Amino acid sequence: MANVQDHPFQIFNTLSRKKEAFIPIDPPHVGLYVCGPTVYSDVHLGNVRTFLTFDILFRWLSYLGYKVRYVRNITDVGHLVDDVDAGEDKIAKRARMERLEPMEIVQKYTNGFHDVMRLFNILPPSIEPTATAHLIEQIVMIERIIANGYAYAVNGSVYFDVPKYARTHDYGKLSGRKTEDQLSNTRGTEGQEEKRSPLDFALWKKAEKGHLMHWPSPWGEGFPGWHLECSVMSTKYLGHTFDIHGGGMDLKFPHHECEIAQSVAADGVAPVHYWMHGNMLTVEGRKMAKSEGNGFTPEELVTGNHKLLERGYSPMTVRFFMLQCHYASTLDFSNAALQAAEKGLQRLMAANGILAKLKPGTEGTAFDVDALVKACNDAMNDDLNSPVMIAHLFDGSRAINGANDGNVALSQADIYQLRKLFNDMLFAVLGLQPEAEAKAGDDLSSGLMNVLLTMRADAKNRKDYAAGDLIRDKLTELGVTVKDTKDGPVWERA
Ligand code: AMP
Ligand code: ZN
Repeated sequence: MANVQDHPFQIFNTLSRKKEAFIPIDPPHVGLYVCGPTVYSDVHLGNVRTFLTFDILFRWLSYLGYKVRYVRNITDVGHLVDDVDAGEDKIAKRARMERLEPMEIVQKYTNGFHDVMRLFNILPPSIEPTATAHLIEQIVMIERIIANGYAYAVNGSVYFDVPKYARTHDYGKLSGRKTEDQLSNTRGTEGQEEKRSPLDFALWKKAEKGHLMHWPSPWGEGFPGWHLECSVMSTKYLGHTFDIHGGGMDLKFPHHECEIAQSVAADGVAPVHYWMHGNMLTVEGRKMAKSEGNGFTPEELVTGNHKLLERGYSPMTVRFFMLQCHYASTLDFSNAALQAAEKGLQRLMAANGILAKLKPGTEGTAFDVDALVKACNDAMNDDLNSPVMIAHLFDGSRAINGANDGNVALSQADIYQLRKLFNDMLFAVLGLQPEAEAKAGDDLSSGLMNVLLTMRADAKNRKDYAAGDLIRDKLTELGVTVKDTKDGPVWERA
């Protein structure tokens, strides 16, 4: 995305062209779609970075006064282990490993994902659709693509005909990949021989014997291809051409390139005005990934219980650490950078605290608060440049400390303006939370939980199991799970 400032005009254009049957929202309105997680395992910190990038976009657009319809899906079928239309479904594989129903896996890791989003204060989207709830729409979209001549059915599967599409369209437009290069990179894998070209990708796959997740379709029992769900769910809720589509950089190809091809082939229009990709969190230069074994979970991060961590860090420190890097750059994890972020965040919060009590003064050097406010807004409007915006807040915090020492002159109007700026930028836009309040809340919660668990243990000792279960059930309703271990009960908050 070049510049969010250009965006308003696109929004009005988009709205005036919308004809689909969905509930339009009056301008100013932005349609934002972000590829969500594949819910087959715990999210790691790399995933958090991408969802945080779009949280900042959502917050910034909302702050500017746009009404944002933010759709972030849950991939609960169709993402195969090796990403090239062969191998087992990631969710089904996990279901076999954990001896659970695939939908139990989906629920378990969706719950876990939501917990992590709350931990990092990442706002929920307006709609969170799942792929399995949109199978009819996916089948109908495949039928449109076949009818337009860009897909073919073979042996119960349906493939997108990439060479045919590429003859008249620019396949590779988004990722900059040429089809010749793509051809030399394809590998001969099992299940590829049905395809007319190795470039083709699955829209629908026949369920082989033993495949756990499958549904009836005009081509027989099977399951949808991974790229299709996002094409269907984004356009269903946001219109055939919508404003912004996001995801991690690693989704640009093939996932997003395929989304464009699918929409153009089915409906004749490019689906998205602005593509926006968040860059990767790396560890010692390598992408953080489940498969690499270098992905720590948020829980490990907070406790410091991982070989790469010197100690634990609070979720807000991690949030701040990530926001001090532009979303389009890679960010390498390091203990030193996290410790610096922790100090930086404390400095800004301390300045904000001083600001609450600061008295106006006329002694000392002048400070241009209007220029600071403008610089912060300009930085965010310049492709969400959060590191530059934070650097400006540090300038502001130096002025606040100076005013507190009597070296910088700030009028009452300046102080009001600075209070609004710090409040808006730190809390509404960057989504930071004061650690002290969170910590005080935690201390109280721990104390209350100890009281309740002691009462529950007492009830059990008296063989009053009903009272014990009641405490546990009421806690479950509040999102607190209690597990009995050999060392006594432990509790966890959703
Ligand atoms: P997945 O559940 O693997 O489909 O990933 C969910 C989101 O996290 C996608 O948008 C990915 O691009 C993104 N992602 C995966 N690994 C990283 C990483 N190391 N850094 C940043 N984003 C990532
Ligand atoms: Zn997607």
